[in-house]
Amino acid sequence: MKKIDPALQLQQLKQFGEFGGVNPSITDSATYTFLEAQTMTDTFHGETEGCFLYSRHWNPSNKYLSDALAAMEGTEEAWVTASGMGAITCVLLHELNAGDHIVASRTTYGGTFAFLKNYVQKFNIEVTFVNISDLDAVKKAMKPNTKVLYAESISNPLLQVANIPELKKIASISDAKLVIDNTFTPMILSPYALGADVVVYSMTKFINGKNDCVAGAICADAAYINSLIDVNTGTAMLLGPVLDPLRSSSILKNLYTLHIRMQQHGKNALYLSQALEKEGYKVNYVGLPQHPDYELFKSFMNDSYGYGGILSIDLGSASLAAKVMQEMQHQDVGYLAVSLGYFRTLFSNSGKSTSSEIPDDIQKEMGMSEGLIRFSMGLDNDIEHTTCIILNILKQHVK
Ligand code: PLP
Repeated sequence: MKKIDPALQLQQLKQFGEFGGVNPSITDSATYTFLEAQTMTDTFHGETEGCFLYSRHWNPSNKYLSDALAAMEGTEEAWVTASGMGAITCVLLHELNAGDHIVASRTTYGGTFAFLKNYVQKFNIEVTFVNISDLDAVKKAMKPNTKVLYAESISNPLLQVANIPELKKIASISDAKLVIDNTFTPMILSPYALGADVVVYSMTKFINGKNDCVAGAICADAAYINSLIDVNTGTAMLLGPVLDPLRSSSILKNLYTLHIRMQQHGKNALYLSQALEKEGYKVNYVGLPQHPDYELFKSFMNDSYGYGGILSIDLGSASLAAKVMQEMQHQDVGYLAVSLGYFRTLFSNSGKSTSSEIPDDIQKEMGMSEGLIRFSMGLDNDIEHTTCIILNILKQHVK
């Protein structure tokens, strides 16, 4: 299995600031001047290296962040967007034409699910949702007009692991692109190295890690990114979900601490999961040997970044989950809030929040309990203390 060291790849990238600053200068311009008209014409046709034309296409701050993400991911290029959904929808709309078909995992982030279930039909795009772990079902779902096979490397919120190398083989039969959302596991998994054609991120989550903005990214080879931002036909260029350069600059600085944060998120999530499991709670964490995809995940994961910061427990009912979450917030475990990848612990009931776009019957079919609490573990320095509080709250409320 091809493993890489994303932190090392990132560290080996040199980006000198305009005035020698260790952080690249922020480019606060929407448009750029040229001394000669011909250079502008050449730049418009993408033929002048180092020249910028207009910030919806490229701007220097976004280029610095994109280059850093490409280094981390091992792709030739990347492009940054104003949200994770901006990245996902651009890639899907770029690949899918009217009459095309997409096979997608049925367990994805609710917004992605809603886009595929309710939105793409207006473009006459057909969607088949599959259990992504059932490779035979995935194979059966593929058609000659299937242009995309879509999955999350670890699914939100059920934590199913996508077998990326096998999915790539299946996608290749129909010449479809394998698109992987790696939002939950930056650095831990490197989907491009494992066979994905395009990797998308919500950088709102772990990559930025501060919960102070929404942002997204698309990582792929240079030809793909260039076609996405082609001035005549590129979906990203024409729909325009570009990231603001001020944000690019702050995310770039946060990217350089990502490896340490992922290790701490993972260490804390593993500790809490083991404690919950020992007490007999129904806990779902990919770092526990009883997780159905534990071995698969281990065979894919890059060394030394841990198993990730996301775990869940199933308390059976939404009302019990609500009580426990409110008490956890009251006792400073973290915040009752959607989203993930923050330095404080966040928890929410997926079925009632980030997956509420998924109808109840499909939630049931997917195996999503109404009492599921998803935790995004924070960077707590004393996880034993946090775990004690959580166990005490659970003892009081769960009979
Ligand atoms: N992908 C995953 C796995 C997510 O969890 C989310 C948001 O929760 C998104 C994509 C969408 O990202 P954004 O909110 O940045 O648009």
